[in-house]
Amino acid sequence: MINLLDFDRDGLTRWCVEQGEKPFRATQLFRWIHQRGVADVDQMTDLAKPWRQKLRGLASVVPLQAISEQVSRDGTVKWLFDVGAGNAVETVFIPEDDRGTLCVSSQAGCAVACRFCSTGHQGFSRNLSTGEILAQLWHAEHHLRRRLGLSEGERAVTNVVMMGMGEPLQNYSALVPALKAMLDDHGYGLSRRRVTVSTSGVVPMIERLMNDCPVALAVSLHAPNDALREHLVPLNRKYPLAELMAACRAYLAAAPRDFITFEYCMLDGVNDHPEHARALLDLVRGSQVPCKFNLIPFNPFPASGLQRSPRERVVAFAEVLQNGGIVTTIRKTRGDDIEAACGQLAGEVQDRTRVQIRLADRRSMPPQVPAQTP
Ligand code: SAH
Ligand code: SF4
Repeated sequence: MINLLDFDRDGLTRWCVEQGEKPFRATQLFRWIHQRGVADVDQMTDLAKPWRQKLRGLASVVPLQAISEQVSRDGTVKWLFDVGAGNAVETVFIPEDDRGTLCVSSQAGCAVACRFCSTGHQGFSRNLSTGEILAQLWHAEHHLRRRLGLSEGERAVTNVVMMGMGEPLQNYSALVPALKAMLDDHGYGLSRRRVTVSTSGVVPMIERLMNDCPVALAVSLHAPNDALREHLVPLNRKYPLAELMAACRAYLAAAPRDFITFEYCMLDGVNDHPEHARALLDLVRGSQVPCKFNLIPFNPFPASGLQRSPRERVVAFAEVLQNGGIVTTIRKTRGDDIEAACGQLAGEVQDRTRVQIRLADRRSMPPQVPAQTP
């Protein structure tokens, strides 16, 4: 069975033509699925009956099964989706006055293994398919639209950030069709500036994205020099800062915005000294990358061994950048009471399995061994 969520509109058109259908049939189908949130072919009333019948035998919309949905005190919603074989991914909706941002996952786990990231600590399980990436948006948009009582033309999700679990540019071939469906006027109709890919710096793929689907780009920097960055983001060994900066500069020729957003996770005593901020100024000036900085207060998790920088130090760091002429924001922590904040997404199911295994081990231990707190 074909999963209809696995296609952008071009892909769906090719598939429909292969089935002997006219190309406009694909657009009709695409609109039913993505604009109206309809999965059941029988409800797609303007499709010809024989075509509906044929479709039923060949394809379906395969949604993700939500294991849980949690709503934070601040209105942030976090879904945990089952992607099979004990893996789960998380998707987070962040409502604000003028927008609704959906934070989407691209992989189960992540191979980049950044020191400060809970997903990275979990290791890499697998890439998500285009259908699994899009199913997160499909579920959130149509679910929230119904819950909020929005009418046909209204949107719950106005912005998408690929900042959930995983490194999107290490899942490039699945990512690009998903982005295209997000941008498609017959799909979610989001503008390029409202769709952001966040990357730890996969240089060759930044270059490809520029040609294939230039959306807004956020780069997770976290350090002003190679030595420190290698320590925090191991991928820096493969793609050092000079190459990364050159790729950022080149990207701007096609980007929908005239700046790159640099994300910088503030780690107590590690990368948060004013000297680091001054070195960042030298770095971005030297490489001539127009940019904004987004400082993210570190969200601690038990295995990291790291601490969040004190507020005063984050503010002082921001001031150095601001005084150097760079627009700098400090990210508000949202949804941390439900572990939905940046870097806290771990796909709890796996963890829970581990906890269960640990508990089972403990039960089989001889009674004289003192139980350790997990
Ligand atoms: N893999 C991509 C996108 C997902 S991570 C990337 O690294 O850019 C999204 C953002 O959350 C990144 O900027 C990442 O550095 C940040 N992040 C990861 N762990 C964090 C933590 N524990 N606290 C705060 N931010 C974190
Ligand atoms: Fe992967 Fe991004 Fe986490 Fe690094 S910060 S481990 S790239 S998800």
